[in-house]
Amino acid sequence: MMRQYELVERVRHYDRNADEALLNRAYVFAMRAHGAQTRASGDPYFSHPLEVAAILTELHLDSATIATALLHDTLEDTEATYEEIEGQFGAEVAALVDGVTKLTKLELQSERTKDAENFRKFLLAMSNDIRVLLVKLADRLHNMRTLHHIGKPERRLRIAQETMDIYAPLAGRMGMHELREELEDLSFGEINADARDSIVRRLEFLKAESVGRIERIIGQLKAELEREGIEASVTGRMKRPYSIWKKMEEKAISFEQLSDIYGFRIVVRDEQHCYQALGVLHRRWQIVPGRFKDYISIPKPNGYQSIHTTIIGPERARVEVQIRTRQMDDLAERGIAAHWAYKDKLALHGKVQDPYAWLRSIVEMIEHGDTPEDFLENTKLELFQDQVFCFTPKGEIISLPRGATPIDFAYAVHTDLGNTAVGARVNGRDVPLRTELRNGDEVEIKRSKSQTPQPVWESMVITGKARSAIRRFIRNQQRVELVKLGHAIAEKAFADAGQEFTEKAIEGLLRRLKLARTDEVYAMLGQGALTQVDLIEMVFPGLLPADASLAMPNQADPARANAAIPIRGLTPGLAYHLAECCHPLPGDRIVGILEAGRGIHVHTIDCANLEEFHTTPERWIDLGWEAHATDGGPAIGRIKVDLRNEPGTLAALCTAIARVGGNIHNLKIAERNPAFFTMVVDIEVKDAKHLTNIMSALNASPVVMSVERPRE
Ligand code: MN
Repeated sequence: MMRQYELVERVRHYDRNADEALLNRAYVFAMRAHGAQTRASGDPYFSHPLEVAAILTELHLDSATIATALLHDTLEDTEATYEEIEGQFGAEVAALVDGVTKLTKLELQSERTKDAENFRKFLLAMSNDIRVLLVKLADRLHNMRTLHHIGKPERRLRIAQETMDIYAPLAGRMGMHELREELEDLSFGEINADARDSIVRRLEFLKAESVGRIERIIGQLKAELEREGIEASVTGRMKRPYSIWKKMEEKAISFEQLSDIYGFRIVVRDEQHCYQALGVLHRRWQIVPGRFKDYISIPKPNGYQSIHTTIIGPERARVEVQIRTRQMDDLAERGIAAHWAYKDKLALHGKVQDPYAWLRSIVEMIEHGDTPEDFLENTKLELFQDQVFCFTPKGEIISLPRGATPIDFAYAVHTDLGNTAVGARVNGRDVPLRTELRNGDEVEIKRSKSQTPQPVWESMVITGKARSAIRRFIRNQQRVELVKLGHAIAEKAFADAGQEFTEKAIEGLLRRLKLARTDEVYAMLGQGALTQVDLIEMVFPGLLPADASLAMPNQADPARANAAIPIRGLTPGLAYHLAECCHPLPGDRIVGILEAGRGIHVHTIDCANLEEFHTTPERWIDLGWEAHATDGGPAIGRIKVDLRNEPGTLAALCTAIARVGGNIHNLKIAERNPAFFTMVVDIEVKDAKHLTNIMSALNASPVVMSVERPRE
């Protein structure tokens, strides 16, 4: 196992300013935290985080990332807490460790749900700090290197498949080709062991047949370049079994037909030397047509730069050659990790203002792949940019649209949870319910049986499910209020009639009214669809004096109710209607409009609809109410009321109207928003003045925001 000072030395080797104290503390903390835990191999568990840290030193990552690697399994697998890590290592490391832990949790989750798609999306969503992903990739690489220690074949296969599907492509997309190839090859060995074995055997045969061939080719390439005065480092190797297998699959050819199993790399000082070296190769050896690619003048979208060519090289071997500068090589091998390492230097030279903005643009670059499949993939990724992924305390993943709050989260888990939510804890801290959730948040909903959804919640949610559940609940609640109100009206009606109120009497009406439950009768009463008089007459036929119903007419249509009222100035025999737009009442100043074939429409003189008749004065008819207009009984006036959207306001409204002698004939909710709702109320009144009195009484009520007679 690597010693503490060895690790620190490795980091110091590429980073003079490494935070040695941090590395030392993380080493000791993780070693103690994992204590006597062991891995499947029998090794002490701590060897794993240590190896992960070592892999990351090869990528030249900063001290915070190396410390994170050491600590990456402590939150999930030991007694260590987030607070402890934050206290000892600061907010930056704590956030990184937390990020890696969440990815690990998600990994366990994906094992259950096989939801690789969600997983991949989440991985990229976490890329606001790319170092989390780098640690996760190194973690996976070490787990793959030690995969053979795991006993259960199906578990090995699952991990290998996941690596092939998710981690290897991710590494490739991040420009880390070396890492990608190793992950692929290790997975390949598990997924298709036979194929890999046969390729390995074939490669060994070739190696034995041509001992020292790679070295000889390297020597010849080098000599040729030196003769032209080009200083270069040349390396060569046989390709990995998996990339050979892929070529065989793609081109549907046999191993024997596959000739370019050797790959060589020429690394030179600068760009100009790249082209000079290329010229040397092409002059000296025959090129294989169609294989030349210049990614220096046209880099790949992920920033990859190199020249690729294939020649029939020394010993007539078909060899693929990559030519690039030292920096291009570094970026090609370490990909985004190299960008990360360079970012401070670049910032220092004033090339980069905000290293994070720059990093984000790199992530964007990565997300724009170079094949049609990648393009498809990207289209999916864009969709997911509008999403956040949060966890339940059990680690279940809940995906929500960006901007979602804990209330959305609660309803996404279960409607009951939403309906009884009273508060939320996000990542262990109490937060207001209107807090916007972020990627990776762990959300715990606090609930109480006595809690019900608040109307104001509607403005705090963005998911359709939450919104409709809240509305449904509030609608039901309003119905409950109407039922209560109706019940009170029924009791009063019985009392006024000198009778004892019984539930049984109401039950007796159900069949006649074709209703199933007494609640529905009360709701009708509460809404004004059924009046006191109707009720008493139905329960006690003939009890009320004959003129009681005349005194309180109960026609559904207010226009018809007023029709009995005499109006001065009407042509006898001509039909007339009180306009639905302004509901004229006795006492209102009125005017008639002659409508061809439909008689006269009576409007109040301030009705907005009169506007359209200004050009046809011949249709206007002067009207007025008869002095005895109110003798025929109450008329029906309509008002529009804006009420505060709070429980109990409906009952307060009804009480206020009743107190000034108004009888609600009908009411309906015209509009609703989180702060208030608008009701249209038809009230039985004596005349316009009576209605005005009711309106001023309502204006005085604290639940009423405004009241008016509709004029349109
Ligand atoms: Mn691990």
